[in-house]
Amino acid sequence: MIEELPAQCSAKGCRAGAVWALRWNNPKLHAPDYRKTWLACDQHRESLGGFLEVRGFLREVTPFGAIS
Ligand SMILES: [Zn+2]
Repeated sequence: MIEELPAQCSAKGCRAGAVWALRWNNPKLHAPDYRKTWLACDQHRESLGGFLEVRGFLREVTPFGAIS
């Protein structure tokens, strides 16, 4: 089996492997129990998380364990 693309950080231009999953929801667009997921490397966890948090979208941040 060929591996799928490795999970990468969602930050623009960043190709680092994902370490965190940022789970978020925009109440204007999404059902309350729906979750979008952005992946983030350690470096972008703060900036991506902050972007969502100031908008009130961030629901949870969980470790993303696909990279070993
Ligand atoms: Zn990154």
